[in-house]
Amino acid sequence: MTEETRSTCPYCGVGCGVIIETEANQIVGVKGDPDHPANWGKLCSKGATLHLTASENVTRQTRLLQPLRRFERSEVPKPVTWERALDTAADQFSQIIREHGPDAVGFYISGQLLTEDYYVFNKLAKGLIGTNNIDTNSRLCMSSAVAGYKATLGADAPPACYDDIDQAHCLFIVGSNAAFAHPILFRRIEDARKNNPAMKVIVADPRRTDTASIADLYLPLLPGSDVMLFHGLLHIMMWEGWINAAYIDAHTDGFDALKAMVRECTPEKVSEVCGLSKDDLFTAAKWFAKSEATLSLYCQGLNQSSSGTAKNATLVNLHLATGQIGKPGAGPFSLTGQPNAMGGREVGGLSNLLSAHRDLANTQHRAEVAKLWGVGDVPAKPGKSAVEMFQAAADGEIKALWIACTNPAQSMPDQATVRRALQRAEFVVVQEAFATAETCQYADLLLPATTWGEKEGTVTNSERRISRVRAAVPAAGEARQDWKIVVDFAHKLEAMGVGSEFRKTTSAATNNNADRNSALTPIALSPETAPSTTTLFPYPSPESIWTEHRESTRGRDLDITGLSYAKLEAQGPQQWPYPEGATEGKTRLYEDGIFPTPNGRARFAALPFIPLADPRENRYPFSLTTGRLRDQWHGMTRTGTLGRLFGHVAEPTVQLHPADMAERGWQDGDLVHLTSKRGSILVPTESSDSVAKNQAFMAMHWGAEYLSGCSSTGEPLAGVNALTTSAFCPTSKQPELKHAAIKVLKAELP
Ligand code: SF4
Repeated sequence: MTEETRSTCPYCGVGCGVIIETEANQIVGVKGDPDHPANWGKLCSKGATLHLTASENVTRQTRLLQPLRRFERSEVPKPVTWERALDTAADQFSQIIREHGPDAVGFYISGQLLTEDYYVFNKLAKGLIGTNNIDTNSRLCMSSAVAGYKATLGADAPPACYDDIDQAHCLFIVGSNAAFAHPILFRRIEDARKNNPAMKVIVADPRRTDTASIADLYLPLLPGSDVMLFHGLLHIMMWEGWINAAYIDAHTDGFDALKAMVRECTPEKVSEVCGLSKDDLFTAAKWFAKSEATLSLYCQGLNQSSSGTAKNATLVNLHLATGQIGKPGAGPFSLTGQPNAMGGREVGGLSNLLSAHRDLANTQHRAEVAKLWGVGDVPAKPGKSAVEMFQAAADGEIKALWIACTNPAQSMPDQATVRRALQRAEFVVVQEAFATAETCQYADLLLPATTWGEKEGTVTNSERRISRVRAAVPAAGEARQDWKIVVDFAHKLEAMGVGSEFRKTTSAATNNNADRNSALTPIALSPETAPSTTTLFPYPSPESIWTEHRESTRGRDLDITGLSYAKLEAQGPQQWPYPEGATEGKTRLYEDGIFPTPNGRARFAALPFIPLADPRENRYPFSLTTGRLRDQWHGMTRTGTLGRLFGHVAEPTVQLHPADMAERGWQDGDLVHLTSKRGSILVPTESSDSVAKNQAFMAMHWGAEYLSGCSSTGEPLAGVNALTTSAFCPTSKQPELKHAAIKVLKAELP
């Protein structure tokens, strides 16, 4: 007898609904959920093989199935009980906190965790321990989009939705290879074009990607020149009288400063800096400004940059200047890479954020969250962002790291520094579902976590839509839910008195909650989950965590006080905001022209063009960019177990322009050393005219199993992040994973 469970795909930010088929507690199939508005039953190659990867991971024993402990990193870790494992973690963390203070520990978590997991991790660090050293791999994914929205529209709230793709007359796709990274959304783009043959599609990307292949106008801009492109388009729009002066007057501030800045961005100058023809610039400006509705779709090409905030904000400028926002088919729409990068933002899961889009730097916001949590204070000292956290650990400042559901030894830029940090840290906990993650080799303690098919909670996709994630089978081995691991660890710390200076008594916290909102669901603790002492973590279920998160959103831009697990069950996935009294979520934001700023007006961002952090030079004459393949996900811990997902691309290569290959007399498959200032890897070449001359492309998925290398001082490294730079945007702190200067030299074979 086959049973069906509705859940959500754990891969990309499209957030497709899936139906998991099980027999006798085994996952035997998966199909698209015909009722989910993100995909209406469709699945891409990754989503459609979820059941196969789940069973392969069990067959090939790549799952982590019990807690493991080792005393020397060279040892094979040995099984321990959960009780022993959590006692060890609490002993080590509390000792380091007592000796060196709370900022001597750091938590590095993941956009693949569920909202409930994220919420308790954030509360553990900021509420109980008293450190803001908690960041996430979402920093590598969308923190520039967050900063760009806040700088211009006043809040981190994507104003558009997937339906806008169907209603757009012009699509401006920039820095996004949706064909590979968001395949179901790309199919929607293709369908929209078929249904509206007059639709214009502009794709701006240094690489002629599969997405660019459908463009009516392809803009192969030079790497890093996006801000100059957007300023140049605005210059042309102003010159030609294509801006919307009425919208600017009624709904925005700051246009004069921007106007002064873009005056010098003439078509001649922009053409030279971006490497684009003036005719193409005029065509793009005209289509963007004059179309009935223009929707921008953008992703890591803008975000993963040392000018990430400026790139995002200056693209939003174009929408504000032309009034292409707050109406069907129009708006700046950032696509999230990971399945719950959006949910993590909602609960404040970055070192500079607090619950419900509050800012750590805001005194009032800290006081509100402290009251919600029933703690005396949330520390004001800024926490370390991802790159800063590993640098601090490499410098010996952070002594204990807790890493959950992410693989920084492979995925972080400047891998040599990250590995040095993991080696130097006195105690490293890795909370993970997959034993094959590179980072596991650095763990003193490995804690087995549940994964897709076993987890309960919620995620939010790119269009602000909250979907349920449901367990279809029991946890594998002794794996536990991520939120439960955090709560159990928190109880151990509380029992040891960690953070007691911040805590009030449970009765005080309960009274706080009662005062604040009588609608808060009372939390009943079951005997086995109830701690013996008072606790800030009285959660018997993910729903009880979500209910507290929900309350934190009251009156905020993402207010979901009208939603509940029961409503999600009855109505299906819903978009935020969904305040108390609402009967449905809000499809599109800012239709009334009022923005969440102090005076209700959006702000133009007059931010200058700043060149790349690691530009090409004589010794490193190639621009390396990184990206995704269609059928693989992140470090391949899940997709790398399934042969059929290698049918599209079987092995790592570096793509080089045919002319660069011919000049050097290289053939496809010749082995070359790619070397940056930070490290080197050995990889076969592949001739491809999708990259321009002097440019190189590599997929980011391949790890040690496929691609070995070394640092500039000879330590072993793996994958393309041996080469990338940790230079980051000063505002969003998102690193420049999209560009590194490299040299390419043919390997001398013995
Ligand atoms: Fe999963 Fe993204 Fe594919 Fe949808 S498009 S099935 S969310 S990987």
